[in-house]
Amino acid sequence: MTNITKNSILTALTKIIDPELGQNVVDLGMVKGLVIKDGNVGFTIEVGSNQGSEKEPIRKACEKAVNEIPGVLSVTAVLTAEIKNNTSQRNSEQMKQNGEPENQGQTNSNQKKPREIPGIESIIAVASAKGGVGKSTTAVNLAIALAKEGNKVGILDCDIYGPSAPKLLGLNGKPEIIPPNRLKPMEAFGIKCMSIGFLIDEESPMIWRGPMVMGAIEQMLKDVEWGNLDILVCDLPPGTGDAQLTLSQRVALTGAVIVSTPQDIALLDARRGINMFHKVDVPVFGIIENMSYFTCPKCNTRSNIFNHGGAKSTADEMGVEFLGEIPLDILIRKTSDEGIPITYGQPDSEHSLTYRRIASKVAQIVASATASGHHQPPPIKIM
Ligand code: ADP
Repeated sequence: MTNITKNSILTALTKIIDPELGQNVVDLGMVKGLVIKDGNVGFTIEVGSNQGSEKEPIRKACEKAVNEIPGVLSVTAVLTAEIKNNTSQRNSEQMKQNGEPENQGQTNSNQKKPREIPGIESIIAVASAKGGVGKSTTAVNLAIALAKEGNKVGILDCDIYGPSAPKLLGLNGKPEIIPPNRLKPMEAFGIKCMSIGFLIDEESPMIWRGPMVMGAIEQMLKDVEWGNLDILVCDLPPGTGDAQLTLSQRVALTGAVIVSTPQDIALLDARRGINMFHKVDVPVFGIIENMSYFTCPKCNTRSNIFNHGGAKSTADEMGVEFLGEIPLDILIRKTSDEGIPITYGQPDSEHSLTYRRIASKVAQIVASATASGHHQPPPIKIM
């Protein structure tokens, strides 16, 4: 394990030849953002735009070659493609084919440059195009799992209409004000957190107009003393509305993770979500299937309540990574309701280990994307 070096990995990768170009992937300069952490290896393979599915065998061969190096525990290779100027147009056509409203293209990604937040190394969005699929639960557990992997993590609850982070993290009270006008994020279970839920009364109805939504999110990003963070997890509201689109365009998102349940209707929405991120040139790091299956605690029989495996096939079909599956389990629901997420309260449980595996994959992809400088403004898309 200790002998794994960048050189040994690159040497293994020189055996992988791109059949179209007749040269190995290293000499072709396709391998970028190589990251090694405790035997876990991550890197990106840059291919031409539109070549995602075509180059998939190369990605697989690269993973296999590195996996065979003694001491390597896991390998995550991600295909990325340089975006040509006509990407927005192509994606718009793609969206039309998918029956999506064209007005989503009104705020074209070229109009505003994404902005970085000082001190924050990478920002990932956790999104679902549909409500109730367990996105916030997943975001919170992913954030804690990322912190347990040794990262400095924050979570920003971007759901202005229905904030859920305070409840999920068992947090109440108001954030401290740092004079003259900055806020100290709240903290729980080793992560920092900010949510509109800390600032307004949960019971009082709030009427938000479009620009106010983005204003509130931007303030929670910029006027909060986040300090140095490796990863800020943004829990986006469900859907593909203004908040998602504006956040994607105004903030230098490193990438997005999509949460979906396995059934058709949710996956149709997941496709919409993926297309939206593609449209605004935000790499999609992968899909997580939540409520993937149910195992009866009494008789141990497994039931696929919302079907099973749909997220994996959608990921394959759309050329994005499948990050893992989380079962439907009463323990996950209960710990969320109690405000002590399972990844913290029961860190050795099977489900926590699943969240940890997913977090480790996400961390590798984020590190590769950051190392190859692909997050400001994002010039790539994950195919
Ligand atoms: P969303 O953010 O997509 O609206 P939430 O994270 O609020 O969804 O989850 C909706 C409900 O489903 C919550 O009651 C939550 O505790 C529950 N839930 C989420 N994921 C799971 C799971 N894997 N197993 C059991 N319950 C879950």
